[in-house]
Amino acid sequence: MKHKPTDFDHIVIGAGSAGCVVAARLAQAGRRVALVEAGGSDLGNPLIADIRQWEATLQSEVDYDYSIVPQPRGNSKLRHPRGKVLGGSSSINSCVAFTAPDVDMDRWQAEGALGWDAASVAPYFEHVLNTVKTSKAPTNNAYSAAVIQAAEEYGLPFIDLDHPDFERGAGYFSLNVVGNERQNAAVSYLHPLSQWGDKLQVFTDTIAIRLIVEGARVIGVETTTGSLFSEGDIVVSTGAFVSPKLLQLSGIGAADHLSSLDIPVTADLPGVGENLLDHPEGVVNFALKQPMPPLSIHGWAVGIFENIDGLDYPDLMFHVGEMPFDTQTTAHGYPAIPRDQGVTFIPNVTRAKSQGTVRITANDPFARPDIDFRYFTDPEGYDERIMVAGIKLARELAQQPALQPWISHELTPGINIQSDADISAYARKTANTVYHPAGTCKMGLDDNAVVTPTLNVYGVENLRVADASVFPSMIGVNPNFTIMMIGERCADFILQDK
Ligand SMILES: Cc1cc2nc3c(=O)[nH]c(=O)nc-3n(C[C@H](O)[C@H](O)[C@H](O)COP(=O)(O)OP(=O)(O)OC[C@H]3O[C@@H](n4cnc5c(N)ncnc54)[C@H](O)[C@@H]3O)c2cc1C
Repeated sequence: MKHKPTDFDHIVIGAGSAGCVVAARLAQAGRRVALVEAGGSDLGNPLIADIRQWEATLQSEVDYDYSIVPQPRGNSKLRHPRGKVLGGSSSINSCVAFTAPDVDMDRWQAEGALGWDAASVAPYFEHVLNTVKTSKAPTNNAYSAAVIQAAEEYGLPFIDLDHPDFERGAGYFSLNVVGNERQNAAVSYLHPLSQWGDKLQVFTDTIAIRLIVEGARVIGVETTTGSLFSEGDIVVSTGAFVSPKLLQLSGIGAADHLSSLDIPVTADLPGVGENLLDHPEGVVNFALKQPMPPLSIHGWAVGIFENIDGLDYPDLMFHVGEMPFDTQTTAHGYPAIPRDQGVTFIPNVTRAKSQGTVRITANDPFARPDIDFRYFTDPEGYDERIMVAGIKLARELAQQPALQPWISHELTPGINIQSDADISAYARKTANTVYHPAGTCKMGLDDNAVVTPTLNVYGVENLRVADASVFPSMIGVNPNFTIMMIGERCADFILQDK
């Protein structure tokens, strides 16, 4: 069949953490690239540039602010922020910078992501680390220093979090910031756009509606500002919620689901929108005994990792806040905590096993999909067990001598909540997310895999997915750099093809 005329070798849809990387690397290699982004530019937005303002980006015009469907065992009220702007969610995130632990990459390989073992991905993480500027969180906040000391008193050693193959310990995060300036994917890879000459054309405020398919070949994308065509690969990088949605709208998904919505089937791929993963987190707030000194940047400098099940890697992680976090507790009737009167320990299940779904409910590109995380529903009860252990550990850390000058008493859940059943009920009811949805177009070799280990969509020509949705399973740290690494690899696969 004859293809339409085209001005582009490639189209990248979604200018988020992964999409910016793919587009920039392809343009750098001389390919003519269209980058399609639903949001506007991040340039000149002080809320995005200044990392100390990151919370103000949430529920602002650059946040899609997704709700989720009612959860049988989790918190139905939590919201999922996602960045609608160049840089995507890296423009609204809290810039905690981690490469993935070797154990996770080696597991990906064992799960069917052939060639994604730790040794194979290492050079691509190097590209990310050489491109995105990072700095160590400042160590000048005396409360955070006391938390590190309390962790040592409990038995968790002070460690360097930059080498994520530790077993357990506490340390200071690296952040992708310079001074107070966020180094998002757009700042690191795209700006100034003029550096790409006429190779890269960025279409902001342009929403991809569906892919244009001829037979089993994708030849373009229909958008709100017109259709774009490309001879070479089209890369979907719209994130873990929209990438499966865009595929489903384009006839790529479970045939029975698509047929029920009168969408012609291009490829019957039952895994599209399955395997939705996240890091669920619990919230423990304490009252402060003395005023908090000036925050270390945005107030999140310290991470603590513990190993509940005796593995040689952590199964529990804490973000430690130099302020309280009461959004989810007030939503469930607890009193609001004035910002200068509390602190928070937030445990998360590093490799949570519950799996949810993202499904369109209509053949309508402007309707939001149903997002159902099914938090705390894994059959073994693993996520719930680790979370309960996390709440208990937060309490133990708060009891250590180093924190006695700082912490007066527990605010949430409160000392009347003591049995495992009660702790679990509190933790699940008031749970938040660490904002890491992933896995909905997973890479692998099994029947539920959506993309091959070279990120090609099964059964469809010219189409790749590169973003958080290709995760086969959850990794044990914050994922942004791993997602950018996926972008680096995707560009490389495309360049090696031709
Ligand atoms: C509040 C918050 C805090 C976080 N903190 C951290 C942290 O400290 N460290 C860390 O490692 N990770 C953190 N994360 C997670 C991390 O930022 C994300 O996992 C990552 O940015 C996701 O990358 P992505 O490429 O998959 O998707 P995104 O970066 O979300 O990119 C998707 C892009 O596609 C665009 N798009 C969507 N639909 C369409 C459409 N139809 N047409 C065109 N464009 C479209 C979006 O506008 C967006 O730009 C955080 C996330 C959030 C939200």
